[in-house]
Amino acid sequence: MTTPLLEVSNLNVSYGPIAAVRGISFCVNAGELVTIIGANGAGKTSTLNAITGLAPVASGTISFDGTDLLSLPVERKARLGIGVSPEGRRVFGDLTVRENLIAGGISLPVRQAEARIDTLVERFPILKERIDQESGTLSGGEQQMLAIARGLMTSPRFLILDEPSLGLAPKIVSQVFELVQQLNQEGVSILLVEQNVRKSLAIAHRAYVMELGQIVRDGDASSLAADPTIHQAYLGAA
Ligand code: ATP
Repeated sequence: MTTPLLEVSNLNVSYGPIAAVRGISFCVNAGELVTIIGANGAGKTSTLNAITGLAPVASGTISFDGTDLLSLPVERKARLGIGVSPEGRRVFGDLTVRENLIAGGISLPVRQAEARIDTLVERFPILKERIDQESGTLSGGEQQMLAIARGLMTSPRFLILDEPSLGLAPKIVSQVFELVQQLNQEGVSILLVEQNVRKSLAIAHRAYVMELGQIVRDGDASSLAADPTIHQAYLGAA
């Protein structure tokens, strides 16, 4: 058996007395698109933030391609090939699109960053049009595209996406999911957290279901999508 690209074991995340993530273990293999689903407050964002270093890990291990992530500073994670598009998009509204992209590739030499921007705007034409515009003036969908593009600045082989479709119009939601699937088909391994469970299961290979800080189910995304319990709990209204 090959070693997973990302391997999380017995992870616990606590905010003071609040145990947000309670002893979860999961993995993402190279080439996979894996989604974590679950209700609000289940601990999905805390799990992603533990990987990126933003949430307080109480115990457990997280390894990426055999390297212990918990002992690495953030910039070293980018160098390992991990890209992140955080929840709430977090684009810098008073910076231009170009400046936001540069911020995503802060560890790159200037020439390389510029070349990467040239490549990325071909893929995101709307960003090309808006390249010198302040990001705060972009629509929600455009800001989301920018957040994903920013996460791609370092040409990651593994991308962490937290709620990329949150608050977007249905047509834009479909575009975001198509993009995520395309990136995966091009070889980027992806860990996706999404409230749009139906669409996530449709593009993912495997899924984990979180409830109250624990993983309560996991399996092939298609089997979970067809499972009546999952259907009732997470797909009823979607
Ligand atoms: P959502 O979809 O609402 O973001 P989630 O599944 O991502 O939900 P988390 O955001 O990880 O869940 O939250 C898990 C639990 O941890 C919740 O009870 C939440 O209130 C709590 N929590 C999250 N962040 C903090 C924090 N910074 N300080 C204290 N408690 C927190």
